[in-house]
Amino acid sequence: MVGISQVAPHIYQIGPVGHVFDDVMVYLVTGQKVALIEAGPGVSAPLILEALQKLEIEPARLAYIIPTHIHIDHVGGAGLLAREIPWARVVAHPRAARHLIDPTRLIAATRQLFGNFESELGPIHTISETQLLVAQDGETISLGTEELKIVYSPGHAPHHICIFDMRSRGLFCGEALGCYPMPEGNFVIPGAAPPDFDLELYLETIGKLEKLEPEMLFYSHDGVGHDAKKLIQLVRESVRAYADIVLPAMRAGDNPGQITKKLEAYVSSIVSRPVELTCPRPVQGYMAYFERNGLAVKGS
Ligand SMILES: [Zn+2]
Repeated sequence: MVGISQVAPHIYQIGPVGHVFDDVMVYLVTGQKVALIEAGPGVSAPLILEALQKLEIEPARLAYIIPTHIHIDHVGGAGLLAREIPWARVVAHPRAARHLIDPTRLIAATRQLFGNFESELGPIHTISETQLLVAQDGETISLGTEELKIVYSPGHAPHHICIFDMRSRGLFCGEALGCYPMPEGNFVIPGAAPPDFDLELYLETIGKLEKLEPEMLFYSHDGVGHDAKKLIQLVRESVRAYADIVLPAMRAGDNPGQITKKLEAYVSSIVSRPVELTCPRPVQGYMAYFERNGLAVKGS
């Protein structure tokens, strides 16, 4: 049974829907029309349909499916849902659109990270060009009574968008403002992931999103943040702190396991308890970025 919670008068959080990813959340913004923010991996599609039913939302009202970016835990279920609800448009940044029409590269990249993912995460299906709605930075999606603004937000991935709900001033931030805040509320894990994490762009995007002055952050991993101003400041600090630890460690010849230990020591000191960083992707993301930019020369 899927969890549903109302997080604003017209917004519901559904999840976790990820199966293997046990913190993946999707959101429904309900106006005259309804938008689904994030699609989860393929295995989440039946859970999302079940939630629509429980909330007594007529499928006919579901007009938009808006994944923040095309990593499998955010977009994997979009093709399946698009088949079930053929009148809904799948909204994507121009840089994501071609990989949804022809997911060959998306499937190959997913296989590289997760192996044979289909049995655990569900398949990735093609989305027809006619069902796609390519959205540029600043474009507005109307739900009749509600307005959603698309904000291009690269850094985590080059095709990442955030969605700003004008009424609640809530920002669906995907992974652009970190994966999730620690329960202590004073540390946010940077949203770095391979292969395309870009530190400079990520920091630029944090500044861009801060200027929107959001009041709430709807994270795609874990939960809802209510003190948006503070959480944005925290993620900026943690993104820089990770860089200050990972780069010297790479130059000293540390392997990913040793670098993770250093990061664990740092995070533990902030939250005042022992922390184990089990997700390898932030470290992999930073290492790929520094290698790509020729910065991680051993002994330099
Ligand atoms: Zn991602």
